Amino acid sequence: MSTPIPFNRVLEFEYGRLEQVAPMLRRIVARNPSPFTWHGTGTYIVGQGNVAVIDPGPDLPEHVDALLSALDAETITHLLVTHTHRDHSPACRPVQAATGARTYGFGRHGSGKIDSGVQVEEGADNEFAPDVVLAHGDVVEGDGWSFECVHTPGHTSNHMCYQLREHKALFSGDHVMGWSTTIISPPDGDMAAYLDSLELLLARDDRAYWPTHGPCVRDPKPLVRALITHRLERADEVRACLANGVDTIAHMVPRMYVDLPEAMYPAAARSVFSTLIYLIERSEVRCAGDLHATARFEAT
Ligand SMILES: [Zn+2]
Repeated sequence: MSTPIPFNRVLEFEYGRLEQVAPMLRRIVARNPSPFTWHGTGTYIVGQGNVAVIDPGPDLPEHVDALLSALDAETITHLLVTHTHRDHSPACRPVQAATGARTYGFGRHGSGKIDSGVQVEEGADNEFAPDVVLAHGDVVEGDGWSFECVHTPGHTSNHMCYQLREHKALFSGDHVMGWSTTIISPPDGDMAAYLDSLELLLARDDRAYWPTHGPCVRDPKPLVRALITHRLERADEVRACLANGVDTIAHMVPRMYVDLPEAMYPAAARSVFSTLIYLIERSEVRCAGDLHATARFEAT
């Protein structure tokens, strides 16, 4: 029996409407719902007057127009990006063209490529290159607000969380979400890095998380601990599969994800693959032949 994860799937919003969700913080949700984005991308606006936008979102004209017209009387000075999936960074381009705001992020998308041809996550925005490249620990300052950069690889290698220092509020992107686990899809997605990035959050004193998808997480540490436990339990399930002669990802997925709709099997397969790579790195598992999602695996 697996440990439950304390998810919260209550989100009140209206597409295209800029709403105050906390002091200094407004949010507008894009109409790009999917199994990976839930209701859609939550774009955050920090400050008043001269503002930062976190994860401008997908390049949907309706979303970009709503964002720009809601901020018509204000100035966007910074565009911060948590990572380069297509539901997060592409709207930087039209917003920058309209406002001249500079873009900030860890860097370009890693070399992650989906080899199955099946969509298992939002695709990469390979065009995005930040004007200002940020490193872990950097501070970005604006008009009445400042962010500490927290590099959290795992979901993608360039994933960055941002702490609004004045409120100790962490914009957690897709690293930690209140409504669902995140996708870890190799090679850019990396389970060992993801677990390290969760441990990193446990050592911090953020009071609340604002993920790009879903509601605010008010009591984040129990959720982070449960997410770590969940992945370690998945690793145990993979070990159990191998011990029972179930040696391919295609056969592991239906055994490990009994309640999951089959349409989501390709995404689950990527997470199982990332767990197998994690166990290979720990010398617990080896792969017969080349390391590939269709290979046979065995315990060492
Ligand atoms: Zn993502």
